[in-house]
Amino acid sequence: MESELLACPECGSEIFTTMVAEQKIDFHVSTHYLTLVTSKGGSSDARHIHLNNIHCGLCPWSGNARDLVISGN
Ligand SMILES: [Zn+2]
Repeated sequence: MESELLACPECGSEIFTTMVAEQKIDFHVSTHYLTLVTSKGGSSDARHIHLNNIHCGLCPWSGNARDLVISGN
């Protein structure tokens, strides 16, 4: 079963960031609003990502994951 990634509505990036316990986490968001953590180190915990307050990894956009768009590839 394929799961597409959601992208930033401003720049189309599929990489998002958030802070969890003062640690920056990089992650993708699937069309099912599942988070796929890509941070190095392996200590990141996707369960603590709040999808109503995420930041784009490439541009100043931040907001709710519901505002993301399906990636056009
Ligand atoms: Zn962006």
